[in-house]
Amino acid sequence: MALPVLTETAVPEPSPGRVSFFSFSRSELSDYLAERFGFSSYRANQLFQWVYQKEVYDLSSMTNIKKSDREVLEETFAFSELEYSNRQVSVDGTRKYLIPVFQDHHVESVMIKQPTRMTLCVSSQVGCALGCKFCQTGTMGLIRHLSTEEIIQQVLTVRKDAANFGDMFSNMVFMGMGEPFHNFDNLERAILILNDDFGIGLSGRKITVSTVGLVPAIKKFGDSPAEANLAVSLNATTDEVRSEIMPINRKFPLEVLLQTLREFPLRRRKRITIEYVMLGGVNDTEGDLRRLPKLLRGIPCKVNLIPYNSNAGLGFESPSDDKARHWQRALMKEGLTATIRWSKGQDIDAACGQLVTNSIKSR
Ligand code: SAH
Ligand code: SF4
Repeated sequence: MALPVLTETAVPEPSPGRVSFFSFSRSELSDYLAERFGFSSYRANQLFQWVYQKEVYDLSSMTNIKKSDREVLEETFAFSELEYSNRQVSVDGTRKYLIPVFQDHHVESVMIKQPTRMTLCVSSQVGCALGCKFCQTGTMGLIRHLSTEEIIQQVLTVRKDAANFGDMFSNMVFMGMGEPFHNFDNLERAILILNDDFGIGLSGRKITVSTVGLVPAIKKFGDSPAEANLAVSLNATTDEVRSEIMPINRKFPLEVLLQTLREFPLRRRKRITIEYVMLGGVNDTEGDLRRLPKLLRGIPCKVNLIPYNSNAGLGFESPSDDKARHWQRALMKEGLTATIRWSKGQDIDAACGQLVTNSIKSR
């Protein structure tokens, strides 16, 4: 089977004639405003606060900016919002949003209700090029990358609707549709806006990016000013099984990936999350359980076991709950931190690996 070719795909232009405000980090905005209009960096700070903190998109309401400057800015920036076209609420309180991004393209975002927090799970691409055999999004192939603007608009759309439920997300994960590190530059800029105290103001400790294991991008992320926790989908303990279920393993096999994680620059007390989707009878044998702690030696990490959420037609089965608990206990005996990600929103197909959009669904 051929490996996916990771090419850059175009993202659509924002509103003709104007640039999207949501596509700038604050430092980029500051440079842009200085270059075009000679504004001081203070203007970028003010704009960020109005837009991201006060949710005011109408320049005429930005009273601390003088009128002539507001007029210039009015002609320069578009603040277009994305409206969700469908919202489903699960019996467990999890909400799934279908969001049209451009023409006939849609992504899904999920607000996951947990006992002590709410986590917003966002998409980074329409579809995904990596083709993992167990994942519904993988069956779509890559349709296109999301722009920075679209990633941020997703967050703003869900944040606005949260007011209707009297809640708000406290954490964010890039675990929706797509491989975030395949869309590195747009992801990085979006995280800078999320991290920014003048922007959305979400600390890197509250954001997690999950990757299939794109080694060069993991290294690049280690050097990036964008701050977020790293999660890696390991999902197997041998190259044979991993290559079978995750074609990217042929390009970046286990040892290369694990060595990259050993060398990954982590802040003090931080750990990498190792995600392990348990596929009944495929990667959850006693042999796998013995090998896993050995593979993880030397990596400051915690293991997140994810019992497979079934997708009709893909041919995989969920393990029993007892099996997942047995793995958790055994890993903890080995001195590892291990948690189980019980599925949320399964009744609305909002659980991990179940996100997929098509024209029929979006109607
Ligand atoms: N592309 C990234 C992030 C999106 S997938 C990645 O693969 O890491 C987020 C997580 O869901 C990954 O750990 C992935 O292995 C897991 N996943 C995919 N399909 C799943 C399914 N059907 N059941 C449970 N987890 C699944
Ligand atoms: Fe893409 Fe992640 Fe699904 Fe693999 S698991 S196909 S990388 S979204």
